[in-house]
Amino acid sequence: MIERFNNTKTENAMEELLQSHPQYDTRLRASWNSVQQAVLLHTLILSAVKLAFGIAIVLVEDLLNQRGKACGERPRCSHCGEPLESKGLVDRTMKTLIGTLTWKRRVWRCSHGCQIGQVAPLDTALGIQPNQRTSFELQQAACVLAVFVPFGIASMLLKSVCGVEVDPTTIWEWVQAAGKDAMRRLEQELALLMDACPSPDVLSDVVSRLPLLCGGDGVMVPFRPQTGSACGKNVWREVKVGIVARLGHRVTKAGRTVSVLTRRRLVAVLGTIDDVQPRLWFMAVKEGITTAEVVVWLSDGGRGFWRVYAEQFAFYACGILDFYHASQHLWKAAKGWLDGRTTQARQWFTSARHKLRHGAVDEVLDDMKDACHSSTLSAEVRKTLENVVAYLETHQDHIDYEGYKEMGLPIGSGMVESVCKWLIQQRFKCVGMRWSEDGFNHLLHLRLAWVNGSFDDVFVHPAPRSAP
Ligand SMILES: [Zn+2]
Repeated sequence: MIERFNNTKTENAMEELLQSHPQYDTRLRASWNSVQQAVLLHTLILSAVKLAFGIAIVLVEDLLNQRGKACGERPRCSHCGEPLESKGLVDRTMKTLIGTLTWKRRVWRCSHGCQIGQVAPLDTALGIQPNQRTSFELQQAACVLAVFVPFGIASMLLKSVCGVEVDPTTIWEWVQAAGKDAMRRLEQELALLMDACPSPDVLSDVVSRLPLLCGGDGVMVPFRPQTGSACGKNVWREVKVGIVARLGHRVTKAGRTVSVLTRRRLVAVLGTIDDVQPRLWFMAVKEGITTAEVVVWLSDGGRGFWRVYAEQFAFYACGILDFYHASQHLWKAAKGWLDGRTTQARQWFTSARHKLRHGAVDEVLDDMKDACHSSTLSAEVRKTLENVVAYLETHQDHIDYEGYKEMGLPIGSGMVESVCKWLIQQRFKCVGMRWSEDGFNHLLHLRLAWVNGSFDDVFVHPAPRSAP
């Protein structure tokens, strides 16, 4: 009985809504009928969503028409200062996330013929531009999709989820505008860094006690050889990616404790190591490098990032050379030095790697230094050995793997590298993709804004953008 009663109440409310808004009747009634006739749960939900969008349009248009009619204070001409003259109520149409809206609002003009165009106070109050034909929340939704999937797929998803049609080129244009905005914001923040350090973000007690981890990697991206042309072979360029994250732990189903990166913050730039350095430092300061209890710099052997470490991070961070990378160098030494004696090479390598891992790197270095003195070595092999010795000695402060393990710190930079690769690979390196410099940079900055949790800022106060 109760169910039937509720149902009737809903039916009455719908009927009332339809009757009081005859202009929507046909469209809403069709949706309402399909809700009532739906048998399967998922069709019921889908038709209810469609009906909800329809009702939302009624509500919003109603409200906008009400506000549009209000005269308010008579505005004055910005040119001659005289009171403006009402031109009456004029239609405004906008494509939005719930569908296309049309409403009427009062428009004013100067009766003295000043060239100020028409003045629509409601437009200003709504924060919309004179030529704008799509609202920002729709642009934002499309841009979120484009951060993860190609523009064509973003357009399809938007259509299938919200029923709004936007062509891929328009989404591309929104991404360009929003990405450019995100890039400009970052550049302004970096310029401020020249004068004063940014203030660190506020973190919870639990997060602020976790070790802070920094590092970076380079990832190659295919570009068009010339701007404005699709001809010619791809040009591969390196994007430098840096990461700042907190190192947490979780227990797997099998009961093993593994490290996980939380609060991942990424920086990236199509440029040199000198371009990525201030960005990485900026992020590290914001993430609390100056106050964190433990700071770790984790990197493979690439010289550029170690230079960044030495110049800016070494004061705060403990540098850890990726263990697997260091082991590879030992294998290189073993192969050269004991070439032709495969078993012996393997045995020495296994033992040397074990010593490296457990704090006896001096013995390994002695082995190699002794070998260098042997008269039977070729000059080439001697050079290889000397390089490996020099490499390990350069990094002698970064290879205390036994100590790092005791502190619960990772000794491999795989986590760092996979996050860096993910940022670029997942979106920029699909089959057949190649980029223009601007197209890449704008989408990259939007993707960074999303990953770093500042995506909404780009859309809350968007810079004025041109149509569509
Ligand atoms: Zn005037």
